[in-house]
Amino acid sequence: MQYKTVTLLRGKESSLERMHPWVFSGAIARLDAGIEEGDLVSVYTHEGRHLGNGHYQVGSIAVRMLAFDDRDIDTAFYLERLTDALRVRQALRLMRPDNNAFRLVHGEGDFLPGLVVDIYAGTAVVQAHSPGMHFARHQIAEALMQLPGGWLRNVYYKSETTLPYKAHLDPENQYLVGQFDTDVAMENGLQFHVDWLRGQKTGFFVDQRENRRLLEHYAANRRVLNMFCYTGGFSFYAMRGGAQLVHSVDSSAKAVKLTRDNVALNYPDDPRHEAFADDAFKYLDAMEAGAYDLIILDPPAFAKHKSALKNALIGYRKLNAKAFGKIAPGGVLFTFSCSQAVSKEQFRLAVFSAAAQSRRRVRILHQLTQPADHPINIYHPEGEYLKGLVLYVE
Ligand code: SAH
Repeated sequence: MQYKTVTLLRGKESSLERMHPWVFSGAIARLDAGIEEGDLVSVYTHEGRHLGNGHYQVGSIAVRMLAFDDRDIDTAFYLERLTDALRVRQALRLMRPDNNAFRLVHGEGDFLPGLVVDIYAGTAVVQAHSPGMHFARHQIAEALMQLPGGWLRNVYYKSETTLPYKAHLDPENQYLVGQFDTDVAMENGLQFHVDWLRGQKTGFFVDQRENRRLLEHYAANRRVLNMFCYTGGFSFYAMRGGAQLVHSVDSSAKAVKLTRDNVALNYPDDPRHEAFADDAFKYLDAMEAGAYDLIILDPPAFAKHKSALKNALIGYRKLNAKAFGKIAPGGVLFTFSCSQAVSKEQFRLAVFSAAAQSRRRVRILHQLTQPADHPINIYHPEGEYLKGLVLYVE
């Protein structure tokens, strides 16, 4: 299919030839007249060779490539990509009676740049990060409903906060298929409510699934602090792991309520759990030294962009220094960064500086990352965002 044309500057095709999915605006020589934000475009070399088709966007990433050939980007295209993505999740054995929450589409990692789809039991929550995906939302919903198995009943579109503000798309959060508001989903046999209407992002962070399972393994007889608990995922795994007590903290009162509800769903009236609405830094300053021997620090992204990198690294250092200062001897610290702009090495250096400040003996037990349903396109290493360290603190 021939769409309107984007022509690159001479020699600027090499990254696309290596299947990197982005065309930067600085690489473009010419745009056909009338190209609008979100349009499908065909990309050509300066010499007129066709490279592939993608979504055009105003900004530094000008084209997100969907296909490196000349195929139509239609409902059949989306169905094919979604079917491939589903096959991978089946291979990962994420669709089981005791697990029905997972990420079906992770943008570039599933060769669908600009699109995220999370599955919670019978509901798909769709997030567009590009105007092109916003315009394709009905095709995507149609393709989702054609996936084999008949397990999907609801498609909810939630892009009010993820689309570029300047594109003036005014995307309304809405059901594209079906309509029921909340559901109980299951992760490794533990239940949780998902509230895609009011929750952050798509409603529950499935990217910590494997790390929560690892935490469960360390929880027996420990006093656990789950800082930045959001929906309490780490808390109910710690309870199942046999923690002595679990304290969940989040600055958002809504998150504290979600955590209480989710813990109660799995462990009703269990006196081991308490949740508090408080600021992380204040709580860590005020708490007694030695009060906890398992601490989780999973803050929101401190650096949303490269420009915020320096302050983000200072933030990670300060936060971790407080935990190193207070964790009980023999304690285990799970510490994370979900900032894409912060590299694994930079995060490790920030945590290292924090540890050095405490002058305690610290061992790295595990180096954690995002799970396999958040795959990294090998041609797009920028897709790696979640990093974590598990540390043993003497
Ligand atoms: N660990 C969670 C995800 C954390 S998301 C999980 O497994 O799902 C980050 C959370 O940090 C949000 O719920 C947000 O409300 C909370 N938060 C942001 N700033 C905070 C602060 N200064 N103190 C405490 N919580 C904060």
